[in-house]
This record gives sequence, C-alpha cells and structure tokens, in this order.
Amino acid sequence: MSRNAKSPQRWIRREIQALTAYHVPDRGNLIKLDAMENPYRWPDALVDEWLDSLRSVELNRYPDPGAGALTAKLKQSMQVPDDMQLILGNGSDELIQMLALALAENDRVILAPEPTFVMYRMIAAFAGMQYHAVPLADDFSLDVDATLAALSQHQPAIVFLAYPNNPTGTLFSAAAVEAVIEAAPGLVVVDEAYAPFTDASFMARLGKAPNLLVLRTVSKMGLAGLRLGLLAGPAAWLGEIDKVRLPYNINVLTQVSALFALEHKATLDAQTAQIRRDRAQLFTALAAIDAIEPYPSEANFILFRTPPRQAGAGFAALKSQGVLIKNLSSTGGRLQDCLRVTVGTPEENAAFLAALRNALDSPLPATLTTG
Ligand code: PMP
Repeated sequence: MSRNAKSPQRWIRREIQALTAYHVPDRGNLIKLDAMENPYRWPDALVDEWLDSLRSVELNRYPDPGAGALTAKLKQSMQVPDDMQLILGNGSDELIQMLALALAENDRVILAPEPTFVMYRMIAAFAGMQYHAVPLADDFSLDVDATLAALSQHQPAIVFLAYPNNPTGTLFSAAAVEAVIEAAPGLVVVDEAYAPFTDASFMARLGKAPNLLVLRTVSKMGLAGLRLGLLAGPAAWLGEIDKVRLPYNINVLTQVSALFALEHKATLDAQTAQIRRDRAQLFTALAAIDAIEPYPSEANFILFRTPPRQAGAGFAALKSQGVLIKNLSSTGGRLQDCLRVTVGTPEENAAFLAALRNALDSPLPATLTTG
C-alpha cells in the first residue's frame, strides 16, 4: 500500500506500528494466577456497607477534580511525608504515561533495568522517547556498575526502578537504588506497586533526594478493579507533571469506593498478610520440585525457571488443567524458560502445584512447546 494513501500505514507513527498491543488473555473459567491480583473478596457485611456508601454518589456531576478526601486518606494510609504532594492516576500506568508526556523530547531517554515492567518501554514509545535497558545481573539484582555507566552515557530524563521488581519479584538492595538516585541526572521513579508485600520502601526518603518520586497503586492490595495509582513527591516536580493530567481522571465511583476501602484497610491488610504467608509456603513447595528453580520474591508472585524449552508446554499443560499463569519465556533473553505464578488462595495454590507436578511428570512433546 502506498505511503501516500489515506491509510493508517501512512499516518500512524512508525514506532506505534512496530508495537504489539498489551495482551490480556481471556480468563474463561480458569483459576486466575496470571495478573498479580489479590484473590480475596470482602465479607458480605462490608460489601453491603460499601453499596450503601454509593447511594449518595451524584453520577450526573463531574467528580471532585482534585479528589481531595481520597488524596488526604491515601497520604495518611501510605505514610506519605507531610510536606510531599500526590497526583492520582487511573492506575499507576496512567501516572507513568503522565511522567513520560511531561518530560518527553525526541532524543530524551527513559532508562530501566531489564527484565522489568513492560509498560516503561511501551510508554516511552507512546511518548516518542528513547528507551534504554540495562540488563540485571544473573541473580536478577541491579548491576550497579553497568547502571552507573549507562546513566553517564545516556543521561536519562527518567529512570524507573520497580521495587520489588516485576516479573522477577526481586527487591533490589537499598544501597544500589540510593547509588542510582545519587548518580542520575534526572528523575528516579521508585515504583512500589508491590509495597503491600515487602517491608522495604523509599517513601520516607522523599524530599531528601531532590530527584526522587515514589509511585504506588491500590491494585495489588486488593482494588485492581478500581484503577487507582498515586505518585508522591515534592511540589516543585508534581506541580509541573499535574499539568498533563486530564481533568477529572479519577471517576466518582473510584473516589468513593477507594476512600471506603481505605477506611476499612484492616480487611485488606489481613488479606495481604495471608498472601505473604502463603508466598513462603508456595516458594518452599516450588523449591522442593527438582526440575524447576523458583526465584525469591518480595512481591505477590513467584518467577520460576523450567527445564530448557519446557515453559511453553508447561504453561499449556497448566492451562489445560484449568490454571492460568503467565508465560514469560517468549519475551526471550533472561526470561527464556521462565513462568510466573501469582500467589492465590491456599486452595488455588494447591491446585496450581498439583497441575504443575502433573505437567512435569508427563511433559508434552517438544513440538508442542510454544516458547
Ligand atoms: N508498576 C508495576 C511494577 C507493575 O507490575 C504494575 C502492574 N502489573 C503497574 C505498575 C501498574 O499497575 P496499575 O496500573 O494497576 O496501578
């Protein structure tokens, strides 16, 4: 097709045409252990109380543009230092996009270690920025020397560090993260999406380093359906980034529901504490299976390595037994032969382990491996 035609090939930016859209598989009736969701619902009495709280919502009005009540509650429940500000996003994804939009210029670079959360790379492309990945060390820790060299060479506008990291589950050493914050010429965004599952955080460091911002989400603590993320940091940065936020980006149902949930945070905290205990059990069970190698995780999922070229077959065998996890092997590189399982309920974890043992006992023929 001619590039002069009135065609998408002519007009859609080449780097967008080169992308593959973020794929979310259909869950069907599968046990869903692919997306780092909290598997628990609320007790019925709490659901009734929440539904009551929605009665006063005025759907005919635009939401509070600054989401004042919710912002105050988030500051308190996430221990954001008093002198720091927040911007809320429709999921933390939207905040990553706002950051890129506010800092984008053609030759500017977003830098991240890899493997990591894929949206950093994708959003760099959306915003027309360059992206530079620094490989993690063999044990998936941060390669500090390589990162410092890349900072000096590429002078990135933004560095994203997922802390703990997705999809490896690794918690980088605090000293390594400090070294990056110190050496980076621009912003360092410490993405604490998995904060409910670790004791480590850079939240208390905000304001002490002038280029540090902390990103959080309520998704993994049990509110993935609401789509709510928060970016915390000094007013001087956030005041500028807020200019690219679309008006009313946090809808009224999210504002009321998240506020309600945070007022009953003890329920969510009990669920995440249970998930942390079950993560330890799941890790022990995985480590006891000779054929696979799980990586220690500070998040609500575990990455594990299958025997060479068995990941695709293992994934398919689990799915055929009703369990959906994430196949990362096709990403290639260090993730070749790797699968990632989200910690579910004890029953779901047991079903996953039984299906995995079954799959490993009778591996599918190599021709069925899909990568
Ligand atoms: N950061 C990291 C490291 C993630 O793994 C994810 C989700 N997988 C997100 C951010 C985005 O979360 P959300 O948009 O649901 O807030």
